[in-house]
Amino acid sequence: MGALGGREETGMAGLGVRVPSPVERLVDSRLSGYGVEVFLKRDDLIHPELPGNKWRKLGPNLRAVLDQGHETIVTFGGAYSNHIRAVAAAGRALGIATVGLIRGEEHLPLNPSLTAARRDGMELHYVDRGVYRQRASAEFLGSLPARFGRFYLIPEGGSNDLGVRGCVQIAAEIGTSYDVVVCPCGTGGTLAGLSHGLASVAGTRAVGIAALKGADFLRDEVRRLQHAAFGGVSENWSIELGYHGGGFAKMSPELLAFAAEFERLHGLAVERVYVAKMLAAVMDMVRNGRFVGGQSVLVVVTG
Ligand SMILES: *Cc1c(COP(=O)(O)O)cnc(C)c1O
Repeated sequence: MGALGGREETGMAGLGVRVPSPVERLVDSRLSGYGVEVFLKRDDLIHPELPGNKWRKLGPNLRAVLDQGHETIVTFGGAYSNHIRAVAAAGRALGIATVGLIRGEEHLPLNPSLTAARRDGMELHYVDRGVYRQRASAEFLGSLPARFGRFYLIPEGGSNDLGVRGCVQIAAEIGTSYDVVVCPCGTGGTLAGLSHGLASVAGTRAVGIAALKGADFLRDEVRRLQHAAFGGVSENWSIELGYHGGGFAKMSPELLAFAAEFERLHGLAVERVYVAKMLAAVMDMVRNGRFVGGQSVLVVVTG
């Protein structure tokens, strides 16, 4: 067996990923009296450094990296990106070099996400916002090999075809017992894969909670991602645009208090950028009768 086979064996298996992730019933007095049962799919427990949908999307990509004998991954993200941090951790664990192209300017001291990425050996380069917007252009992509040699490219958020297909697995793990499955939305890749996977389960719909403001574009984006990954678009999903809480990575004092209280009551660490907003949204939707009594709602804790 060649070096690559050996690396794959110690690599992917050695990552220590825990799937399928467990499902727990959420017992919360604030939900009582509405007749709606809420469950949490604990994808946050998949791996301490590659949690949730980051693993779902990266797993198939990492396999491709190893299969194709790549030694470097180049990827993109904002300065607070969970994806950047996860790619760096995966690279360290697999012995693959990682390069992060970060939107905007360097701010020192580095924030906790980028500090962790650096600690895991990621090489960070900052990309002017105007140029960053053109990151998918042939011109920009064509300039990368001269700087980084041969590499495997993973787009922002890991939402390429392989990443989207990796999220189908969430649906495969949960079976047919739920009326609604809820997940947060950043790039929409998770919702695209999850809802495609659920399309074969009659009567189950998927609801995405947008973590960013003005996210109408996400509807077209999820369609585009589904079309690219699966050759067709499913009609079993919708996106809630009103729970961004002021914008991406913005947290009101109320939302911060809600997240802290949720942690205290339920003993799980609530990721602040996506999961806190999604949990608050689900509570609000239950209170406002957005789910019918007798329905069961599964909430995917994506990180
Ligand atoms: C990255 C991330 C998301 C966003 O997922 P998309 O597939 O980009 O929509 C959601 N939740 C958590 C915890 C994340 O880290």
